Amino acid sequence: MHILVTGGAGYIGSHTVQELLRAGYRVTVLDNLSRGHMAVAQVLDGAEFVWGDIADRELVVGLVRSRGIQAVLHFAALSLVGESMAEPSLYYHNNVVKGLSLLEAVREAEVPYFIFSSTAAVYGEPVQVPIEEDHPLAPTNPYGATKLAFEEALRWYGAAYGIKYVSLRYFNASGADPEGGLGEDHQPETHLIPLVLQAALGLRPEVTVFGTDYPTPDGTCIRDYIHVTDLAEAHVLALRALEGGLVSGAYNLGNERGYSVREVVEVARRVTGRDFPVVEGARRPGDPAVLVASSRRIREELGWRPRYGDLETIVRTAWEWHRRHPEGYEGGT
Ligand code: UDP
Repeated sequence: MHILVTGGAGYIGSHTVQELLRAGYRVTVLDNLSRGHMAVAQVLDGAEFVWGDIADRELVVGLVRSRGIQAVLHFAALSLVGESMAEPSLYYHNNVVKGLSLLEAVREAEVPYFIFSSTAAVYGEPVQVPIEEDHPLAPTNPYGATKLAFEEALRWYGAAYGIKYVSLRYFNASGADPEGGLGEDHQPETHLIPLVLQAALGLRPEVTVFGTDYPTPDGTCIRDYIHVTDLAEAHVLALRALEGGLVSGAYNLGNERGYSVREVVEVARRVTGRDFPVVEGARRPGDPAVLVASSRRIREELGWRPRYGDLETIVRTAWEWHRRHPEGYEGGT
């Protein structure tokens, strides 16, 4: 079976391409390299890389028809809460307008299966933790709002046009492929774990904790960190389940355990054996205080079992990649 992976040169997309190749799928990546990395193509040399845009409907339809593509895994999107608060127009354009154009191409080319990279940000400030999939959907930032808008479009397209889909709502993707090669590299970096590791490497003078007055035990935000390889494996499971007749729907992906920003810093100090300065700063607009998943549905219905669930393992695999790639992919694979 041949799969089209949009955004396959990005962080979660590239790890998923790796797992698809390991599972024996043929893969074509479509990426405009606005956020992804060309160097990823060297690591994933079993996949075909096409430099292009998801909004190029003719290109997408042509790829689907010429390669006999049976499923689209859609990762190509902007994903930063802070940036989305400052530039909502960027998020609506990339995640909704371009996303809908991709969906039109999928409809036109009659692709039967679709897997969407969604996010815990669709829930907003939780009214109940751990968060189950039927929790109210009330995003607190444009990132979450645009992901929710696409999820809803997918639901209606699925019902009307027969596209079988799964939306996977990721909590905090982190870590790196334990077998090396792929890692997390955003320019500029805004995610907590890579920032902390860059500080441990001496590449940053300090780490700033965004808010110490949240209603949490130590006052800092709590997140559910999930290893990117466990996330990637969930896509393969979801794809197989769709092929086997799974009813379309949404699934959370998290480890069902929350860590505060201060706890992440402590684990990073332990794993790296290095100390680094940490300063206290203001809250980051749009951040909910606590996001912790219930992943019961995907465990029970699809048999998902995370292999790298504990935070030490997550941070250790990330640290191994960062140590070998202090300048990210630009320093070479
Ligand atoms: N965070 C922080 N300092 C930073 C970056 C992030 O305190 O320099 C916090 C952020 O407020 C959030 C958590 O770390 O509570 C995880 O943030 P990240 O950007 O990694 O992921 P997000 O939760 O936005 O998807």
